[in-house]
Amino acid sequence: MSPSAATVRPSTDLSHPGLVALQPYGRRRRHCAECAAGPLALLVLADGAPHCLDCADLGHLVFLPRGDTALTRRAREASSLSVVVVRRNHRKRRYERQGVLVEEAALALAERRCLADAEARARRRQRDAARRAAEDVRFAAAFAAEIRTLFPGCPAGRAERIAAHASRRGSGRVGRSAAGRALDETAVRAAVRAAVRHDDSDYDALLMAGVRRDEARRRVRGVVDGVLDGWRAAGTSR
Ligand SMILES: [Zn+2]
Repeated sequence: MSPSAATVRPSTDLSHPGLVALQPYGRRRRHCAECAAGPLALLVLADGAPHCLDCADLGHLVFLPRGDTALTRRAREASSLSVVVVRRNHRKRRYERQGVLVEEAALALAERRCLADAEARARRRQRDAARRAAEDVRFAAAFAAEIRTLFPGCPAGRAERIAAHASRRGSGRVGRSAAGRALDETAVRAAVRAAVRHDDSDYDALLMAGVRRDEARRRVRGVVDGVLDGWRAAGTSR
C-alpha cells in the first residue's frame, strides 16, 4: 500500500465519525462518553467525544486488517457500511490506516470471490502448462523430422533425443532460440553437431582434462565430421 493510501489526515477524515475508527495510542485510557465502557481498544469520535462501537451503531462490523488489497476492496464494495481504522503514528505525526471494519457477510463474500479468483488462476496456469507441454512435443517432433531430412542416416531414436535435448524449454539451447524455433537449417545442424561432439567423440573428456574448448573442438573435428558425413551419405545411398 502506498504511503498516501495508508495515511489519513485527521482534519478531514476524523471529522466524520462513523467513517473512521481510532485505535487509541499511549497511556491515555479512553472510555465511551455514552455508556462509559472502556478502556476502549477502538473508538469513534462523535462531537469530539469517544464512543464505543456499540454506541456508534458499528458493533456488528468485523475488523479486516490491512494488507490484502483485493480482499479489502471487495469487502468494502460488498458492505453497505464500512469504517476505516486508523492509529496515530506520533513519530511520523500522522494517522495510519490499520484496516477496515466491514459487515461480516460482506467479508465472507469477498473472501469467496478472492478464493474463486485464485482457483481460476490456478486452473489457467494448469491449462497454460499443458499447452506449453503440447507445444514442446510438437516442436521436438518437427525438430527431429528436420534432423532426419538433413541427416537421413541419423537413427530415429538419436534424432528424437537430440531434438528433445535441444528444444527443452527454458534451457537456452539452440532449439529454443529464435532460429531453432523456426527450424533454421543452420541451427538444426549446430544442434546435431553439438550432440555428436558430446556423444561420439572424446570432446567432454578433453574438456574435463583441461583442454581449451577451441583446441578440443579442433581435435575431435575429424571424428565428428566422419559421423555427420555418414549420416548424410546414408540418405543419398537410399
Ligand atoms: Zn458506549
